[in-house]
Amino acid sequence: MKQDVKSKIATHQAGLRPATRPVELVGMDEEELVSLCGQMGEPPYRGRQIFSWLYAHGVSEFSQMTNIPKGFRAKLGEAARLEALELDRESKSADGTEKYVWRLRDGARVESVRIPMRNVNGVMRWSLCISTQVGCAMGCAFCLTAKMGFIRQLTAGEIVGQFLAARRLLARGERFHNVVFMGMGEPLDNFGATVKAVRILTHPRANGVSAKRLTVSTVGIVSRLRDFVSAVPGVGLAVSLHAADDETRGKLVPVNRKWNLRALIDECRELPVGERRRITFEYVMLRGVNDSKRDAKELSKLLEGLKCKVNLMPWNPFPGTPFERPGDERVEEFRRILLAAGLVATTRTAKGVDILAACGQLADSSRLDGPGGLKQLNPL
Ligand code: SF4
Repeated sequence: MKQDVKSKIATHQAGLRPATRPVELVGMDEEELVSLCGQMGEPPYRGRQIFSWLYAHGVSEFSQMTNIPKGFRAKLGEAARLEALELDRESKSADGTEKYVWRLRDGARVESVRIPMRNVNGVMRWSLCISTQVGCAMGCAFCLTAKMGFIRQLTAGEIVGQFLAARRLLARGERFHNVVFMGMGEPLDNFGATVKAVRILTHPRANGVSAKRLTVSTVGIVSRLRDFVSAVPGVGLAVSLHAADDETRGKLVPVNRKWNLRALIDECRELPVGERRRITFEYVMLRGVNDSKRDAKELSKLLEGLKCKVNLMPWNPFPGTPFERPGDERVEEFRRILLAAGLVATTRTAKGVDILAACGQLADSSRLDGPGGLKQLNPL
């Protein structure tokens, strides 16, 4: 049975605060905003106006909603609130990458990364990498976020809020060309909030980002892949592979013990990703662990006939870890083997390594001291 809007709003508000606290507007979809306005005696179009103010204009104050009558703005200001997070810290890499640490209402912190990219014509474009959880339960061996453990899910408002807050920090006329859900957390382990956030960000009236420019990365929660692709068609899917045999992948990505490579790849072959879409397989390269010629050949065999792209990511180091990054030559040799097998393969240029903003380097450092902290990483 379709969940009614009232209970959806209740669900949206649940988890973070008791009913007496103000309604969080960021994270509500258009239907919910229309319903909320109806409950407050306003016509449906008022909800659509607020949707536009929240997401297309990204206002941070009710006074900026200039086509909403002053009286209703005041009422709204008493019953609801806008900003779901505030900037706690920012750091800038020598390569122009910026990392933002956001403080959430309960004091938890998550990170987003703004990455500069030049296109073939040399035009600067920005990508934004956002988080979906505080910490992560997946325990990938090479990832700093994993060392935090799982703290809590982010709400859709906190996921969308990272985009809105980061967009406000762009210079006039700039926008985010791409958005990737590759920050802290496993998006499909926070399925409902992730899907809702994607729908809001790609809504035609939200002025966020087009579906084809938004990519969600998963470690391979096989039971959720089909539902996800159906829920947000056209959105890019990146699957973290990181090894071509179960023994190695089981050590790097513990979820492989639940869904092994065969289960994952068989499901990927069947996914309705659309004619023009390729699944991206992410492959973090670790010296002496998964970077041999044999690994490259096994990977080619595993992905044979699958419409996909392999994105090689030489590992980005962080303190206290047993892993090492392979040399450029080894990475290129690995890539050449994939290309010779007919696969599309690219190597990701690491950005923001010096400020711990690159892939696998995001974490709330205050949570990394003590038991389970950086000094307690387990070598393979
Ligand atoms: S790599 Fe992604 S899924 Fe794995 S522990 Fe890190 S954040 Fe979680």
